[in-house]
Amino acid sequence: MGGFTPMAPKCEPVIMSRSEAPHDDMTGNLLDRLLAGLPAEAVLTDPDVTGSYAHDMAGFCPAGNPAVVVLPRTAEEVQHVMRTATALRVPVVPQGARTGLSGGANATEGCIVLSLTRMDRIVEINPVDRIAVVEPGVVNAALSRAVGEHGLYYPPDPSSWETCTIGGNIGTASGGLCCVKYGVTAEYVLGLDVVLADGRLMSTGRRTAKGVAGYDLTRLFVGSEGSLGVVVRAILALKPRPPRQLALAAEFPSGAAACDAVCRIMAGGHVPSLLELMDRTTVGAVNELTRMGLPETTEALLLAAFDTPDPAADLAAVGALCEAAGATQVVPAEDVAESELLLQARRSALVALDAVKGTTMIDDVCVPRSRLGEMLEGVERIAEKHGLTIGVVAHAGDGNTHPTVCFDAADPDERRRARESFDEIMGLGLELGGTITGEHGVGVLKKEWLAREIGPVGVEMQRAVKAAFDPLGILNPGKLF
Ligand SMILES: Cc1cc2nc3c(=O)[nH]c(=O)nc-3n(C[C@H](O)[C@H](O)[C@H](O)COP(=O)(O)OP(=O)(O)OC[C@H]3O[C@@H](n4cnc5c(N)ncnc54)[C@H](O)[C@@H]3O)c2cc1C
Repeated sequence: MGGFTPMAPKCEPVIMSRSEAPHDDMTGNLLDRLLAGLPAEAVLTDPDVTGSYAHDMAGFCPAGNPAVVVLPRTAEEVQHVMRTATALRVPVVPQGARTGLSGGANATEGCIVLSLTRMDRIVEINPVDRIAVVEPGVVNAALSRAVGEHGLYYPPDPSSWETCTIGGNIGTASGGLCCVKYGVTAEYVLGLDVVLADGRLMSTGRRTAKGVAGYDLTRLFVGSEGSLGVVVRAILALKPRPPRQLALAAEFPSGAAACDAVCRIMAGGHVPSLLELMDRTTVGAVNELTRMGLPETTEALLLAAFDTPDPAADLAAVGALCEAAGATQVVPAEDVAESELLLQARRSALVALDAVKGTTMIDDVCVPRSRLGEMLEGVERIAEKHGLTIGVVAHAGDGNTHPTVCFDAADPDERRRARESFDEIMGLGLELGGTITGEHGVGVLKKEWLAREIGPVGVEMQRAVKAAFDPLGILNPGKLF
């Protein structure tokens, strides 16, 4: 991952007019055409600045140098960019905050990076229809806070929520901590405005509670990683804001025992608003980073929370199930503030693991919950075989694990072993009936693995869909396939 910091350009953007920037004829023509329909301040060409937009937060993913970075403020400006790109056959890479973990937002050589971060208006919050209409650059946490003021709730909450954008969340179909109860981004996107590769504007979906008119193109766009069109507006479903959740932490002598508890909780019909797991390595890393004082002797720490009318009763029931599964200690949070601290600990897990050896490769394998224990055991075997530290943090209630390979990128042998173990973990996930990616997407990192998961016919049909939307192949080329 290489250190998690908000991915704003590291220096003040230098804005150049066409005449100031030294470029070859092709790039010159591109800039002339872009500047014909965009304000100069929306077109960045300084290589030091454009270089800072080259990649997202995934390791091991090649990235090219963008020819130009464009920061539009309106759908019309996005249309102008796409018309220009089509006319000149220039690739376009849509970007949000570049917190992605699969290289999906990485630039290709000579591309237009289309950063949607300035399109960050919340257009409408409608408590009667229970929807929000937003531009793609709205930051996830900003939307959550804004709808909260109306007594409403936008559930998808990736740990990166203070930085990542709704456009990026739609691009990756992202999940988060509360998805075990409330579901993932796909379940909240009702309709989209999308600028197609040739610059046409298309509206999909609905703002009604129901609607089945035609193929569900809205769903097709969710998780399409910027390869089918550019989202310029989204209609999102909202829920009434639930009561604040109360959490508990349960310590287990083994990952297997913690997974057994997860199975008992889910089979028992409980509906926690959060069910997360951190292994010993992760707990140690979080303590190192945050000084939170989580229990370091535990092999696995399970966090469960409820936002029900009587969370204490639900926590007591789940605590008993944890004890039956072998928990050595079950500690309910005393209040909402203490619960929030536990969540903060969990949210900082990936950043903390990144600090262990300076670099991480974060797997995103999702298995049926009933196979979670086998997944954890398998990861342990892989770590041992390669002599590596692999911390596991998981949205356990979803069976979505993030085995995180910690390594020293300066050591070529360790680098090789890290990549091998990363791949073996995906292979293990498929063997257990799972998927190579629960929420981070395929991007560049898992391209070969997508083909293994969906097979040749699946790939052929997906390519056919891509060709229908983007016959010239200019939208985020080199991703997914
Ligand atoms: C510390 C940390 C914790 C994380 N935790 C989670 C987590 O809990 N759950 C989770 O799911 N993810 C998590 N992630 C991954 C990442 O934050 C998500 O994938 C997020 O959705 C990416 O949003 P972004 O705005 O950064 O998008 P980017 O990374 O910029 O882009 C992601 C993809 O979406 C496409 N895209 C962006 N905007 C548009 C648009 N307007 N139209 C079309 N395509 C577009 C891009 O081309 C790219 O393919 C985490 C990342 C970090 C660094």
